[in-house]
Amino acid sequence: SAGRGSIQLYESGMQTELAEKHELERDMRIGLKRGEFQLYYQPQVDFQGNVLGAEALLRWRHPGKGFVSPAVFIPIAERSGFVHDLGTWVLQQACEQVGQLARNVPAFDGHISVNISNWQINQRGFDSHVQDILANAGADASRLTLEITESLFIHDLNDAIARINALRALGLRFSIDDFGTGYASLSYLRRLPIDELKIDQSFVKNLGMNARDTDLVETIVRIARHMDMQVVAEGVENETQRATLAKMNIWALQGYYIARPMDKDAFLAWLTERRETVSPPGSSIPAGA
Ligand code: C2E
Ligand code: MG
Ligand code: MG
Ligand code: MG
Repeated sequence: SAGRGSIQLYESGMQTELAEKHELERDMRIGLKRGEFQLYYQPQVDFQGNVLGAEALLRWRHPGKGFVSPAVFIPIAERSGFVHDLGTWVLQQACEQVGQLARNVPAFDGHISVNISNWQINQRGFDSHVQDILANAGADASRLTLEITESLFIHDLNDAIARINALRALGLRFSIDDFGTGYASLSYLRRLPIDELKIDQSFVKNLGMNARDTDLVETIVRIARHMDMQVVAEGVENETQRATLAKMNIWALQGYYIARPMDKDAFLAWLTERRETVSPPGSSIPAGA
């Protein structure tokens, strides 16, 4: 009878969880219309302090629950299909930001990176959808980077490559996010038309402290260089990590040590202030550097 009781408990727990997900899904749909979502921007800089771009990170301020993490609501949005509406809104906002930065900070020639769910990129006509959004915002495609994950390549590598190529033909850049945590295989990496690798923060964490992690990141950087990909390290939180990455001569750094994600006005102010204190970027930066 204890078994029976515990099964019931388990079921009701699952039902509560399911009910909560439905509730969050409904709240998201309402919340998007009510303006509860916002894009934050986290800068990416090089070792001279030049700003190379920023990653757009979605924030949701739920009226009752406060800030809900994208790590919680994105998976729910993916399963319910709402990720298409939400992702469209994110792309529109990011493209408007690209246009606004071009007008307000003409000296800034960096990119905005947007996280793209597999559900979005696998949607038919996604390339023309992105093209329309760029055109409506009057944004330059070369200023937009799409962050995808290794999981996109598991099912149909050729199809994924074709989709990426269609978007790159418009001028967009591509980045592999959380690199090293997914389905990494050197044989497919060689075939990918990708501009940038983002080293996952779990590897960055022990840089300069743990020799094996440092060696691993060094190896990833070397591989990226061979493939003509630029390297971004994410989750840089301290000087030890920064200094270790400086020796590896990667392209860009992102993390709390440089700046926290901030809303678009704060980002604009941060950028403007920095422009006054930092010399403009030098000539072209070699790929993989
Ligand atoms: P991600 O794309 O890998 O983003 C990096 C995450 O690390 C962000 O969490 C960021 O706030 C956090 N972070 C940045 N610097 C540091 C640091 O120095 N230390 C630590 N510990 N963390 C740092 P966030 O904003 O909570 O986003 C979580 C994930 O949600 C993102 O991971 C991304 O996969 C997803 N996400 C966020 N926005 C969107 C979006 O618009 N669309 C989609 N599809 N996914 C999104
Ligand atoms: Mg990302
Ligand atoms: Mg990441
Ligand atoms: Mg992530």
